Amino acid sequence: MVNPRDNLLRQDRIPHIWCSGCGIGTVVGCFLSAIEDLGLDTDKLAVVSGIGCTGRVAGYLNVDSFHTTHGRAIPFATGLKMARPELKVVVISGDGDLAAIGGNHFIHAARRNMDLTVICVNNFNYAMTGGQSGPTTHRTAKTTTTPYGSVDYPFSLPMLAAASGAVYVARWTVFHVQRLRRSMRDALSKPGFSFVEAIAPCPTNYGRRNKLGTALEEMKYYKEKSVVKNDAKLEELGLELGGEILCGNFWDRPRPPFHEVLLDQTRQVQAKAA
Ligand code: SF4
Repeated sequence: MVNPRDNLLRQDRIPHIWCSGCGIGTVVGCFLSAIEDLGLDTDKLAVVSGIGCTGRVAGYLNVDSFHTTHGRAIPFATGLKMARPELKVVVISGDGDLAAIGGNHFIHAARRNMDLTVICVNNFNYAMTGGQSGPTTHRTAKTTTTPYGSVDYPFSLPMLAAASGAVYVARWTVFHVQRLRRSMRDALSKPGFSFVEAIAPCPTNYGRRNKLGTALEEMKYYKEKSVVKNDAKLEELGLELGGEILCGNFWDRPRPPFHEVLLDQTRQVQAKAA
Protein backbone atom coordinates (compact mmCIF):
# COMPACT_ATOMS: atom_id res chain seq x y z
CA MET A 1 0.00 0.00 0.00
CA VAL A 2 1.30 3.45 -0.85
CA ASN A 3 1.40 5.90 2.04
CA PRO A 4 1.11 9.59 1.10
CA ARG A 5 4.22 10.20 3.19
CA ASP A 6 6.35 7.57 1.45
CA ASN A 7 8.32 10.29 -0.30
CA LEU A 8 9.36 11.73 3.08
CA LEU A 9 10.77 8.45 4.38
CA ARG A 10 13.76 6.47 3.17
CA GLN A 11 11.99 3.35 1.99
CA ASP A 12 15.21 1.35 1.84
CA ARG A 13 15.55 1.76 5.64
CA ILE A 14 12.08 0.39 6.41
CA PRO A 15 11.13 -1.62 8.49
CA HIS A 16 12.26 0.56 11.36
CA ILE A 17 13.78 -0.74 14.58
CA TRP A 18 11.21 0.63 17.03
CA CYS A 19 9.15 -1.71 19.22
CA SER A 20 5.40 -2.08 18.82
CA GLY A 21 3.65 0.66 20.75
CA CYS A 22 6.72 2.90 20.96
CA GLY A 23 5.80 6.59 20.86
CA ILE A 24 8.62 7.68 18.57
CA GLY A 25 6.73 6.82 15.39
CA THR A 26 3.87 9.14 16.39
CA VAL A 27 6.33 11.97 16.90
CA VAL A 28 7.78 11.34 13.43
CA GLY A 29 4.24 11.34 11.98
CA CYS A 30 3.48 14.69 13.66
CA PHE A 31 6.74 16.15 12.38
CA LEU A 32 6.04 15.06 8.80
CA SER A 33 2.54 16.55 9.06
CA ALA A 34 3.99 19.81 10.38
CA ILE A 35 6.46 20.15 7.50
CA GLU A 36 3.67 19.37 5.04
CA ASP A 37 1.36 21.92 6.69
CA LEU A 38 4.03 24.60 6.35
CA GLY A 39 4.92 23.55 2.80
CA LEU A 40 8.59 23.50 3.77
CA ASP A 41 11.00 22.87 0.92
CA THR A 42 12.60 19.59 1.95
CA ASP A 43 15.70 20.50 -0.06
CA LYS A 44 16.20 23.28 2.47
CA LEU A 45 15.51 21.18 5.54
CA ALA A 46 18.11 19.26 7.54
CA VAL A 47 17.43 16.95 10.48
CA VAL A 48 20.09 16.04 13.02
CA SER A 49 19.80 13.31 15.66
CA GLY A 50 22.09 11.99 18.36
CA ILE A 51 22.26 8.45 19.72
CA GLY A 52 19.48 6.29 21.12
CA CYS A 53 16.14 4.96 19.91
CA THR A 54 15.09 8.50 18.92
CA GLY A 55 18.52 9.04 17.40
CA ARG A 56 17.39 6.73 14.61
CA VAL A 57 14.84 9.28 13.36
CA ALA A 58 17.34 11.14 11.17
CA GLY A 59 18.19 7.95 9.30
CA TYR A 60 14.59 7.30 8.31
CA LEU A 61 13.76 10.75 6.96
CA ASN A 62 14.20 11.41 3.27
CA VAL A 63 15.84 14.80 3.78
CA ASP A 64 19.45 15.75 4.37
CA SER A 65 19.93 14.16 7.75
CA PHE A 66 22.73 13.38 10.15
CA HIS A 67 22.90 10.65 12.76
CA THR A 68 25.64 12.07 14.95
CA THR A 69 27.63 11.08 18.03
CA HIS A 70 26.11 10.80 21.50
CA GLY A 71 24.95 14.12 22.90
CA ARG A 72 26.34 16.11 19.99
CA ALA A 73 23.30 16.64 17.79
CA ILE A 74 23.08 20.32 18.79
CA PRO A 75 26.75 21.14 18.06
CA PHE A 76 26.47 19.45 14.64
CA ALA A 77 23.26 21.37 13.98
CA THR A 78 24.89 24.62 15.14
CA GLY A 79 27.77 24.19 12.70
CA LEU A 80 25.37 23.40 9.90
CA LYS A 81 23.20 26.45 10.62
CA MET A 82 26.19 28.78 10.78
CA ALA A 83 27.62 27.45 7.52
CA ARG A 84 24.26 27.34 5.71
CA PRO A 85 21.97 29.91 7.40
CA GLU A 86 19.36 29.54 4.68
CA LEU A 87 18.57 25.99 5.88
CA LYS A 88 15.85 25.10 8.39
CA VAL A 89 17.78 22.93 10.84
CA VAL A 90 15.91 20.62 13.20
CA VAL A 91 17.24 18.42 15.99
CA ILE A 92 15.17 15.37 16.92
CA SER A 93 16.61 13.33 19.77
CA GLY A 94 15.86 11.68 23.08
CA ASP A 95 15.94 12.88 26.69
CA GLY A 96 19.17 11.08 27.57
CA ASP A 97 20.98 12.36 24.50
CA LEU A 98 19.80 15.98 24.76
CA ALA A 99 19.70 16.55 28.50
CA ALA A 100 22.51 14.38 29.91
CA ILE A 101 25.63 14.11 27.76
CA GLY A 102 24.23 16.85 25.51
CA GLY A 103 22.88 18.96 28.37
CA ASN A 104 25.47 21.72 28.17
CA HIS A 105 24.98 22.04 24.42
CA PHE A 106 21.25 22.31 25.01
CA ILE A 107 21.41 25.16 27.53
CA HIS A 108 24.06 27.12 25.64
CA ALA A 109 22.32 26.82 22.29
CA ALA A 110 19.17 28.17 23.99
CA ARG A 111 21.18 30.91 25.73
CA ARG A 112 22.68 32.21 22.50
CA ASN A 113 19.40 31.62 20.66
CA MET A 114 20.71 29.42 17.86
CA ASP A 115 18.14 29.22 15.11
CA LEU A 116 17.24 25.55 15.69
CA THR A 117 14.02 23.68 16.36
CA VAL A 118 14.72 21.00 18.95
CA ILE A 119 12.19 18.19 19.38
CA CYS A 120 12.84 15.92 22.35
CA VAL A 121 11.13 12.56 22.63
CA ASN A 122 11.03 12.11 26.40
CA ASN A 123 10.44 8.53 27.50
CA PHE A 124 12.25 9.02 30.80
CA ASN A 125 15.03 6.48 30.31
CA TYR A 126 17.97 5.37 28.22
CA ALA A 127 15.85 2.93 26.25
CA MET A 128 18.20 1.69 23.57
CA THR A 129 20.84 0.53 26.02
CA GLY A 130 18.38 -1.42 28.17
CA GLY A 131 16.43 1.08 30.26
CA GLN A 132 18.87 2.89 32.55
CA SER A 133 17.84 6.00 34.49
CA GLY A 134 18.48 9.35 32.84
CA PRO A 135 18.10 13.06 33.54
CA THR A 136 14.30 13.03 33.23
CA THR A 137 13.58 9.76 35.08
CA HIS A 138 10.86 10.39 37.66
CA ARG A 139 11.75 10.11 41.34
CA THR A 140 10.85 6.62 42.63
CA ALA A 141 10.76 5.16 39.10
CA LYS A 142 12.32 1.77 38.52
CA THR A 143 14.94 1.39 35.84
CA THR A 144 17.77 -1.10 35.38
CA THR A 145 20.09 1.20 37.34
CA THR A 146 17.50 2.18 39.97
CA PRO A 147 15.86 -1.16 40.83
CA TYR A 148 14.60 0.21 44.18
CA GLY A 149 13.37 3.48 42.65
CA SER A 150 15.22 6.59 41.53
CA VAL A 151 16.19 9.07 44.24
CA ASP A 152 17.31 11.80 41.82
CA TYR A 153 15.23 14.85 41.02
CA PRO A 154 14.60 15.02 37.26
CA PHE A 155 15.01 17.97 34.94
CA SER A 156 11.87 19.66 33.74
CA LEU A 157 12.86 20.14 30.11
CA PRO A 158 10.41 22.98 29.27
CA MET A 159 11.60 24.88 32.36
CA LEU A 160 15.24 24.27 31.46
CA ALA A 161 14.72 25.42 27.86
CA ALA A 162 12.78 28.56 28.78
CA ALA A 163 15.10 29.52 31.64
CA SER A 164 18.09 29.09 29.32
CA GLY A 165 16.70 31.47 26.70
CA ALA A 166 14.52 29.53 24.23
CA VAL A 167 12.04 31.68 22.28
CA TYR A 168 9.31 29.05 22.15
CA VAL A 169 8.58 26.10 24.45
CA ALA A 170 5.79 23.52 24.35
CA ARG A 171 5.05 20.13 25.85
CA TRP A 172 2.57 17.46 24.73
CA THR A 173 2.30 13.72 24.98
CA VAL A 174 1.95 11.52 21.92
CA PHE A 175 -1.72 11.17 22.79
CA HIS A 176 -2.14 14.83 21.73
CA VAL A 177 -1.41 14.22 18.07
CA GLN A 178 -3.01 17.35 16.61
CA ARG A 179 -1.70 19.66 19.33
CA LEU A 180 1.77 18.22 19.03
CA ARG A 181 1.63 18.72 15.28
CA ARG A 182 0.48 22.36 15.70
CA SER A 183 3.22 23.08 18.24
CA MET A 184 5.82 21.64 15.91
CA ARG A 185 4.44 23.88 13.16
CA ASP A 186 4.70 26.90 15.50
CA ALA A 187 8.19 25.93 16.61
CA LEU A 188 9.37 25.54 13.00
CA SER A 189 8.00 29.01 12.21
CA LYS A 190 9.88 30.82 15.01
CA PRO A 191 13.32 32.26 14.34
CA GLY A 192 15.62 31.21 17.17
CA PHE A 193 15.79 28.30 19.58
CA SER A 194 12.39 26.64 19.75
CA PHE A 195 11.74 23.56 21.85
CA VAL A 196 8.99 20.93 21.83
CA GLU A 197 8.93 18.12 24.37
CA ALA A 198 6.97 15.06 23.24
CA ILE A 199 6.31 12.68 26.12
CA ALA A 200 6.17 9.19 24.69
CA PRO A 201 5.62 5.63 25.88
CA CYS A 202 8.53 3.21 26.00
CA PRO A 203 6.51 0.10 26.84
CA THR A 204 9.51 -2.20 26.46
CA ASN A 205 11.62 -0.64 29.18
CA TYR A 206 10.11 2.21 31.20
CA GLY A 207 6.45 1.25 30.97
CA ARG A 208 7.03 -2.39 31.85
CA ARG A 209 9.25 -1.68 34.86
CA ASN A 210 6.91 0.97 36.23
CA LYS A 211 3.75 -1.05 35.79
CA LEU A 212 2.23 1.31 33.24
CA GLY A 213 0.83 -1.71 31.38
CA THR A 214 0.73 -2.39 27.68
CA ALA A 215 1.50 0.31 25.12
CA LEU A 216 -2.21 1.02 24.80
CA GLU A 217 -2.63 1.25 28.58
CA GLU A 218 0.36 3.59 28.76
CA MET A 219 -1.27 5.80 26.14
CA LYS A 220 -4.48 5.77 28.21
CA TYR A 221 -2.41 6.75 31.26
CA TYR A 222 -1.06 9.78 29.37
CA LYS A 223 -4.55 10.72 28.29
CA GLU A 224 -5.89 10.56 31.86
CA LYS A 225 -2.94 12.27 33.53
CA SER A 226 -2.56 15.17 31.10
CA VAL A 227 -3.90 18.62 31.91
CA VAL A 228 -3.72 21.34 29.27
CA LYS A 229 -2.53 24.58 30.85
CA ASN A 230 -0.99 26.96 28.36
CA ASP A 231 -0.43 29.63 31.01
CA ALA A 232 1.37 27.32 33.44
CA LYS A 233 4.27 28.89 35.28
CA LEU A 234 7.68 27.37 34.64
CA GLU A 235 7.99 26.14 38.21
CA GLU A 236 4.78 24.14 37.79
CA LEU A 237 6.21 22.03 35.00
CA GLY A 238 7.95 19.35 37.06
CA LEU A 239 6.76 15.76 36.62
CA GLU A 240 6.11 13.08 39.21
CA LEU A 241 5.42 9.42 38.54
CA GLY A 242 1.64 9.03 38.66
CA GLY A 243 1.12 12.81 38.89
CA GLU A 244 -0.46 15.32 36.54
CA ILE A 245 1.32 16.08 33.28
CA LEU A 246 0.88 19.75 32.46
CA CYS A 247 0.84 20.23 28.69
CA GLY A 248 0.62 23.32 26.54
CA ASN A 249 2.38 26.05 24.63
CA PHE A 250 4.09 27.61 27.63
CA TRP A 251 6.51 30.17 26.29
CA ASP A 252 6.70 32.49 23.30
CA ARG A 253 9.26 35.33 23.67
CA PRO A 254 10.80 36.42 20.37
CA ARG A 255 14.36 37.71 20.23
CA PRO A 256 16.85 37.85 17.34
CA PRO A 257 18.65 34.60 16.58
CA PHE A 258 22.41 34.27 17.01
CA HIS A 259 23.40 34.22 13.32
CA GLU A 260 21.48 37.43 12.60
CA VAL A 261 23.02 39.25 15.56
CA LEU A 262 26.47 38.10 14.47
CA LEU A 263 25.86 39.17 10.87
CA ASP A 264 24.68 42.61 12.01
CA GLN A 265 27.74 43.04 14.16
CA THR A 266 30.03 41.99 11.28
CA ARG A 267 28.37 44.52 8.97
CA GLN A 268 28.82 47.29 11.54
CA VAL A 269 32.49 46.42 12.09
CA GLN A 270 33.08 46.35 8.31
CA ALA A 271 31.27 49.67 7.83
CA LYS A 272 33.44 51.31 10.50
CA ALA A 273 36.62 49.89 8.96
CA ALA A 274 35.70 51.03 5.42
S1 SF4 B 1 13.12 0.40 23.68
FE1 SF4 B 1 11.49 1.87 24.20
S2 SF4 B 1 12.06 3.80 23.17
FE2 SF4 B 1 13.28 2.14 22.24
S3 SF4 B 1 12.11 1.50 20.45
FE3 SF4 B 1 11.50 0.15 22.14
S4 SF4 B 1 9.70 1.14 23.07
FE4 SF4 B 1 10.72 2.67 21.77
